[in-house]
Amino acid sequence: MHNKSISELASGLRAGEFSSVELVQHYLGRIGSLDKGLNSFITVCGERAMAQARAADEQLASGVTGPLTGIPIAQKDIFCTQGVKTSCGSRMLDSFISPYDATVVSKLQAAGAVTLGKANMDEFAMGSSNETSWYGPVKNPWDTDKVPGGSSGGSAAAVAARLCAAATGTDTGGSIRQPAAFCGITGLKPTYGRVSRYGMIAFASSLDQGGPMTRSAEDAALMLQVMAGVDNRDSTSVDEPVPDYSVTLGDDLDGLRIGLPKEYFDAGLDAEVAASIDLAIAEYKKLGAEVVEITLPNTALAVPTYYVVAPAECSSNLARFDGVRYGHRCDDPKDLEDLYKRSRSEGFGAEVKRRILIGTYALSAGYYDAYYLKAQQIRHLISDDFKRAFERVDVIMGPTTPSTAFGIGEKADDPVTMYLSDIYTIAVNLAGLPGMSIPVQPVSGRPVGLQLIGNYFAEAKLLNVAHRLQQATEWHLAAPDGFE
Ligand code: GLN
Repeated sequence: MHNKSISELASGLRAGEFSSVELVQHYLGRIGSLDKGLNSFITVCGERAMAQARAADEQLASGVTGPLTGIPIAQKDIFCTQGVKTSCGSRMLDSFISPYDATVVSKLQAAGAVTLGKANMDEFAMGSSNETSWYGPVKNPWDTDKVPGGSSGGSAAAVAARLCAAATGTDTGGSIRQPAAFCGITGLKPTYGRVSRYGMIAFASSLDQGGPMTRSAEDAALMLQVMAGVDNRDSTSVDEPVPDYSVTLGDDLDGLRIGLPKEYFDAGLDAEVAASIDLAIAEYKKLGAEVVEITLPNTALAVPTYYVVAPAECSSNLARFDGVRYGHRCDDPKDLEDLYKRSRSEGFGAEVKRRILIGTYALSAGYYDAYYLKAQQIRHLISDDFKRAFERVDVIMGPTTPSTAFGIGEKADDPVTMYLSDIYTIAVNLAGLPGMSIPVQPVSGRPVGLQLIGNYFAEAKLLNVAHRLQQATEWHLAAPDGFE
């Protein structure tokens, strides 16, 4: 059952081959027996999921169903879920039971999806390895000595290990695409503003975007269909019609112009990963695509720019966790200052503190012009690089990451090396563009991701391009040993 696609599950449910209760029990059983070794869930909502499954079965019996009725999914623990602990991977929110649902959560529930639980993640979505979670690291199901990537590492591991049919993730600098690449799944980061951020705990508000993490582009289309759309509770969500993502999946790729940025194939790219990317590009040529070399000259500036903008925004967003209104509060504070200091010192982990310090520094009087303002100017140059490229090509392709998944602990003490693992993903967030990662030929048993970057609101095109490769090849079907 757990190898079926969302549409296969949906038709099985409709045809009465199995019930949602059976399906949810099956997945909960897998989580119970297989997740101990992975740690991909922070919270498993067993009883709640069973109640949702019973309601789904009633809907199925009455014939009035939504697009995802009865389908079991996982929510990244950054999405507020009413009545359920929403920790954001932090001790700060370990006791936070959300009083409301994020828009993404309420939309998926209204579409009939069943929430199996809340997926592990890097603390406040800051990380590339899922090692900064207060709840401990997540293991990569392909090799449990390796990281699953981050920050949506729990979602990626759970989807790869078939512990849920699909999951949500968020991507501020690569956190959907990079773990999708490391875990051999399909991840889509939509255009900034495509999916509502309401109720999605903020890290860097001008970069954060939620999206689907699935086993195929076809499933991603079904998830995005439900998640996308304007929301009057998020003033940055965009009032742009949501196309039917499934109808264009099979469109012909004849004459598709693929741009390969020369900066994404430089000396920093692992040779075996490069070979897998070349193999995928060769498949696209067989499907009728043309390949053009392009340049994104400001690529090298993306990581330093991001590490000014993201910490600056996070230092402001995380100021709300003061021990007063909600979140962790220290015992017996002497006075107000002691309350703030100790609550924040105890509630936040090292990486979050590092970012708050950097961000506060960059925004302080006298430094603002030198750092934040400069970073915003460079951000413009990076967007302009893409604008010029999309005058010549329909989609940009390259590796999602410079290497396959690295070892747990391998980069934990070296933040700069860790930051560089997002070198190919971050520019997309700075420009607000949609990006996707899909699995291609693995290297020594470890997954490799091909990144597809589209123009603004070109999610339908990305899904189409990804789906055509998945129809022609079988890379996306492989399951890690022990999780088939
Ligand atoms: N790895 C990047 C960071 O640590 C991106 C995180 C993300 O996309 N949420 O900031």
